[in-house]
Amino acid sequence: MNQKIWLSSPHMGGNEQKFVNEAFDTNWVAPLGPNVNGLEQDLEKYLGNGAHVGALSSGTAAIHLGLILLGVQAGDEVLCQSMTFSASANPILYLGAKPVFIDSEMETWNLCPVSLEEAIKDRIAIGNKPKAIIAVHLYGVPYQVEAIKAISDKYNIPVLEDSAEALGSSYKGQKCGTFGDIGVLSFNGNKIITTSGGGAIVTKSKELKERAVFFATQSRDNAPHYQHSEIGYNYRMSNISAGIGRGQMEVLDAHVQLRRDMQAFYLDLFQDIATVNVFTVPSTDYFANYWLSAILIEPNTAKGIDRETLRLAFEAANIESRPLWKPMHLQPIFEQYPYYGSNVAEILFEKGLCLPSGSNLSDEERVRIKKVVFDFFK
Ligand SMILES: *Cc1c(COP(=O)(O)O)cnc(C)c1O
Repeated sequence: MNQKIWLSSPHMGGNEQKFVNEAFDTNWVAPLGPNVNGLEQDLEKYLGNGAHVGALSSGTAAIHLGLILLGVQAGDEVLCQSMTFSASANPILYLGAKPVFIDSEMETWNLCPVSLEEAIKDRIAIGNKPKAIIAVHLYGVPYQVEAIKAISDKYNIPVLEDSAEALGSSYKGQKCGTFGDIGVLSFNGNKIITTSGGGAIVTKSKELKERAVFFATQSRDNAPHYQHSEIGYNYRMSNISAGIGRGQMEVLDAHVQLRRDMQAFYLDLFQDIATVNVFTVPSTDYFANYWLSAILIEPNTAKGIDRETLRLAFEAANIESRPLWKPMHLQPIFEQYPYYGSNVAEILFEKGLCLPSGSNLSDEERVRIKKVVFDFFK
């Protein structure tokens, strides 16, 4: 059997172990240290725009702390893109708050401004003004930044920008992660760069970053003994993980280019197959890292062609592909919560497939992918 081709696997640049060894040599084997500070500085420089970055144990932790910084409390409502990974929404429940899910639009597959505003008006009318908006850059394609910002400003509801999939993406030249009142990054093993597991919170001020780090290190008050006036969390990043991250930052832009090459490979591969559309940014204002390349397949029952039969054809060749995220409002854990929109997210889920997208795919592996597609559609 051929080796498995993964959707997205870790891809080391070369210097990761150097930074990890430094941590051992200097005995900084702890959830703080020079690599943690170094990674934060690397990210601040990369994101620009006055970003202040706190390195955390995961992107999920960053969303949790982000909601706390935005003042979300038990009983509050939080608007959240339905078409996303569950980690965008779970922290709402950690806080005892209530998610209100919003549909996507067809251009960026992200938060639909029309449904968002409809939801806000409706929630305000029943006396539940939402506390925050969670907007996601799905698969590295930026959401409609200006339209979402205009709504956020109009109703004075802050945006938590879930940029877990979009490090390296930008809109009109500004890096994703810097648009929201709070930004979130993830360095999980399958993301565009990895720390083996980790994340970061992006804030607009040094004070807010320090507040996030305070919560992430058990909310210790300034006293010689252990003194606590607020709930604390153990969410800081390990200095070993941060070492991997520093090595990864050196190759981030190169890996973004390689992912974009994969998307271009699929554009070429499917160009003559009318029933398949490769997910592509709507205009040159958008720059995507194409963390995952994704396609929509129009089903053809006569020919036995649909999302699932193509997925099985890849599986038979030991190639991983996956349906898009299943929308949150259709998940058993979330289906009791309100939902605004029509069926765009649902259609995307039914027709969409993510394809192998790693920055480390070889020419041989591309040939194997090509063969499955040719055989399937011939
Ligand atoms: C990966 C991901 C997260 C969570 O990040 P972790 O580091 O795995 O906790 C959150 N939101 C989205 C959209 C993601 O893809």
